[in-house]
Amino acid sequence: MVRYGELSTKGKNRMRFINKLKRNIQDVLSIYPAIKVTADRDRGHVFLNGTPYEPVAEALKQIFGIQAFSPVYKLEKNVPALKKAVQDIMIELYHEGLTFKVSSKRSDHNFELDSRELNQELGSSVFEVLPDIKARMKRPDITLKVEIRAEAAYISYEEVKGAGGLPVGTAGRGMLMLSGGIDSPVAGYLALKRGVDIEVVHFASPPYTSPGALKKAQDLTRKLTKFGGKIQFIEVPFTEIQEEIKEKAPEAYLMTLTRRFMMQITDRIREERGGLVIINGESLGQVASQTLESMQAINAVTMTPVIRPVVTMDKLEIIDIAQKIETFNISIQPFEDCCTIFAPDRPKTSPKLKNVEQYEARLDVEGLVARALAGIKVTEISPETTGDAIDELIDDLL
Ligand code: ATP
Ligand code: MG
Repeated sequence: MVRYGELSTKGKNRMRFINKLKRNIQDVLSIYPAIKVTADRDRGHVFLNGTPYEPVAEALKQIFGIQAFSPVYKLEKNVPALKKAVQDIMIELYHEGLTFKVSSKRSDHNFELDSRELNQELGSSVFEVLPDIKARMKRPDITLKVEIRAEAAYISYEEVKGAGGLPVGTAGRGMLMLSGGIDSPVAGYLALKRGVDIEVVHFASPPYTSPGALKKAQDLTRKLTKFGGKIQFIEVPFTEIQEEIKEKAPEAYLMTLTRRFMMQITDRIREERGGLVIINGESLGQVASQTLESMQAINAVTMTPVIRPVVTMDKLEIIDIAQKIETFNISIQPFEDCCTIFAPDRPKTSPKLKNVEQYEARLDVEGLVARALAGIKVTEISPETTGDAIDELIDDLL
């Protein structure tokens, strides 16, 4: 059973949010064919239908828009079935010194026992199989919640905290500029957290950049799918532009010019694909591309809002998140991206817009941008099947 997060504050948009969350859960769990997902105004349900609980729980913990979830057993409404179920559950959980209580609720008033009688009956059935267990009314280790509803009976005993945030897609679409570095995947994660449906834009300059660098960007994107489902990956051919800049502009301005092209092309892709914002991994620092002057010169090519989720974070704070979301180890793989290869030794830390525009005028900007756009490749990246999940699935089939 899934409890929604911040959604409750969203008034009449509520059903739109819930349906989006439902589709995201379906998408992330699509590797498990037996699973069914339902969602109504108050809560959602993920029917395991025999799928192992653990990997599904791990996946649910990551999906934005879920505040908490509980494993719940759905049972027939009869006392022997309920007794058997609570006995099985408590035998499974039991260790020496464990305390418990049964807390029943009956919304179906035709059921043969009322909630007090149910507590007693089910409680004593636990003592039949575990004579040494202790009942405790105040803060027991395990509270078995039993609910008798019109359609069925439900038992649960645990609540797992979810990721919070907003369901991915409820805030609209944004284009994430993803390199192979540490920062941009973290920026993407933070945008996803607030409901932005990201599409990834990655600039590749073969043969200067290797297939490994491209795969790295795709692997990073795959890591981001666990928070809300599939992501479109857009690869932009960038070789011609980098060669042109290298040939015609002064060394010190290579970086600024390169970044302006990236920004401009991303903005055109955004426009064509119905995006509202651009997201990047810029962070304010000592590196040339990351001074305020530099940001201004790069940003000058567009009026589109550019969101920089990690702009004020320290490197260590960013790394912390990168490790948590498991992108760090991919990001530090030694595949050079296009910027590293064409990077000048001494880029301008305070590029003047006037100079930038003057150097840019030596290039056929429109032609270069148009050719890059004509060569983009879009692929869909789906949630990964983790090693554990596959093992469990196979175990289950055998
Ligand atoms: P990152 O760790 O994300 O690479 P960084 O700290 O290395 O960031 P820069 O290399 O200056 O910073 O890049 C700034 C931002 O520009 C990146 O975070 C990313 O959003 C974008 N960017 C850089 N290179 C590429 C690329 N090849 N494809 C797409 N976006 C890129
Ligand atoms: Mg980088």
